Amino acid sequence: MGVKIRGIKVICTAPEGINLVVVKVETDQPGLYGLGCATFAYRHLTVKHLIETYLEPLLVGRDAERIEENWQLMHQNGYWRNGPIENNAISGVDMALWDIKGKMAGMPLYQLFGGKVREAVPVYRHADGKDLSELCENIQRFQEMGITAIRCQCGGYGGESYGLVPPTAPQDALPGVYLDSQKYIRDTAKLFEGIRRRLGEEIQLVHDVHERIAPVEAIQLAKALEPYHLFFLEDPVPLEQTQWLRRLRQQSFIPVAQGELFNNSAEWKTLITEQLIDFIRVHLSQIGGITPARKLQIFAEQFGVRTAWHGPGDMSPMAHAANVHIDLAAPNFGVQEWSGIEPPNFVIQKLRSQHGALLEVFNGLPEFKDGYVYANDRPGLGVDINEKEAEKYPCTAEVTTWTQTRRRDGALQTP
Ligand code: MG
Repeated sequence: MGVKIRGIKVICTAPEGINLVVVKVETDQPGLYGLGCATFAYRHLTVKHLIETYLEPLLVGRDAERIEENWQLMHQNGYWRNGPIENNAISGVDMALWDIKGKMAGMPLYQLFGGKVREAVPVYRHADGKDLSELCENIQRFQEMGITAIRCQCGGYGGESYGLVPPTAPQDALPGVYLDSQKYIRDTAKLFEGIRRRLGEEIQLVHDVHERIAPVEAIQLAKALEPYHLFFLEDPVPLEQTQWLRRLRQQSFIPVAQGELFNNSAEWKTLITEQLIDFIRVHLSQIGGITPARKLQIFAEQFGVRTAWHGPGDMSPMAHAANVHIDLAAPNFGVQEWSGIEPPNFVIQKLRSQHGALLEVFNGLPEFKDGYVYANDRPGLGVDINEKEAEKYPCTAEVTTWTQTRRRDGALQTP
């Protein structure tokens, strides 16, 4: 007999001013449903359309308990596969099916993954500042909260921007976020020297290159940062240039975390088997949800590569919970990025959000306490949504501007 999928609903909501896409899979059992994350914040309507138009008709009437079968079915149904739109859509359903499985078992998901190997997951937070002093103050604020690993940036990713069109750009240059990679490398080395001088050696430091420089420059930066013993350097090279990690490895002993933009196993297989990275940090919904993420975690374990899943503000609490449930049961867990439940700075500046709105829409979020994040012990992912509250925060489709990063000469640089 089995539990059948009765319908699939897509709930788009932006309680913090960031578009979130939540998928609700309903079953033929009274009150039994699952929730998952399909958040592709900058293309949310396309993901919603794909789920409603193609995935729901494909899945209605099928067995909700057959997660792997349904994942493969969705994955190959459109013939062409592995794109971010499709993967996010699949993830929404996949996480919801895992949520249903946990509810049927009466167990939190970490139990289905083999049980806890740790009671809670240590997290790293993101600290920024306009200069060394402001950054150190922000770092200390996190230290007071018990955080021991902190990502340090000054002036945003890629360093201080030079405005929409700086005077040094060529005539008629197009607007964008203008960067100067060489200045960024010099400034960043100085910044980390200052952080270590002021705050000592105890704190674990992370820095995110965000793919915003040329690969050979990433090697220069890695070497310049060696004296400051980073916990890891995040996404030093673009998705399309990961073969450069071989050279980075030959030149530097800096630990490398890569994979925020990865879509599929072809992109990470060699990096793991050749041990070209120390941490794999995919975005769970971007690779298709819990099913592929668990396979990846177990695969990475065989090669001594640890996990550091992406955990930004532009993913729903279902995805944060999915990260944490996998982390709790993973021997090769490294660290978890945690964006907190307070609205990010740029949203506060835009005044589009009410503080605490996220908690009105969602409940059962993983909880932060003294440097660690804890999952709750409810069955499944443990997170629920208040659909009435979610309606109060509609999503908007705008042209994305922050991704229009440019080099000094005005040519686009991966963001
Ligand atoms: Mg990053």
